[in-house]
Amino acid sequence: MKKVLTIEHAGHGHWVGDGFPVRTIFSHHSHGQRISPFLLLDYAGPAEFPPSDTPRGVEEHPHKGFETVTIVYSGEVEHRDSTGGGGLIGQGDVQWMTAASGLVHEEMHGRDFTKRGGTLEMVQLWVNLPAKHKKGPPHYQSIQAAQIPVVPLPGTAGIVRVIAGSFGGTNGPAHTFSPVNLWDVRLNAGQLSELAVPKGHTTLLFVLSGRIELVSGESLGNAGLASFDQGDDSIAFKAVEDTKMLVLGGEPINEPVVAQGPFVMNSQAEIQQAIKDYQSGRMGQLVS
Ligand code: MN
Repeated sequence: MKKVLTIEHAGHGHWVGDGFPVRTIFSHHSHGQRISPFLLLDYAGPAEFPPSDTPRGVEEHPHKGFETVTIVYSGEVEHRDSTGGGGLIGQGDVQWMTAASGLVHEEMHGRDFTKRGGTLEMVQLWVNLPAKHKKGPPHYQSIQAAQIPVVPLPGTAGIVRVIAGSFGGTNGPAHTFSPVNLWDVRLNAGQLSELAVPKGHTTLLFVLSGRIELVSGESLGNAGLASFDQGDDSIAFKAVEDTKMLVLGGEPINEPVVAQGPFVMNSQAEIQQAIKDYQSGRMGQLVS
């Protein structure tokens, strides 16, 4: 059984643009290399938006050197980018965007969701890229809810939606550039579960809603994050309430992380170059 290293619960939130009230669950700025290959996890909502004629969101901004993974639990996110791509991320869908050499995009509430109003709940995870993949072409994986395999846990403990990596021999649809497991887990109250996770990987457990108790006795509720040591190969917990959580695992990328805003590279010189590239329009622009 992996040992628990830290337990923390997110406090105050902030707005990203005018569409996403988020709590930052972890960030390389505060957590350093021990969350590698991950860089950041923002939890948006759940928040109620009244019907409106004007979509809210985050207007044109760049990304370079890593991937953004958007998981929509409720509501809709519509995106548009400088490669000419775009689309809608609906409930249960995942967008895995590889920014790599750089792009410019916008992320807004979907048009129908804006008109209708309702609850927005989503997660955006930033996954770092190994240095050799930071210069590759930007691209998207639009993963529809129906493409994500659902693996039942033993008994009536719950289910695991395998977004990336593999769980119990079932592979998730997302292609990754380093070994990553990303599992959307739903637990039924009262049940005990033990999940096999790879030895040597960073292992994080993030509770969106509900409550679990780890076998070591710690309790983890809404917006709670547990991190585990790299030794051993399983984590175990009991669902105290019906619980919605993410299990994140990955092989650490042992390379320097130099970041500034939406650019994550390996050196200060590369950051300066990224800023120049963006300012001179080399990351492209949105065509309206
Ligand atoms: Mn973005």
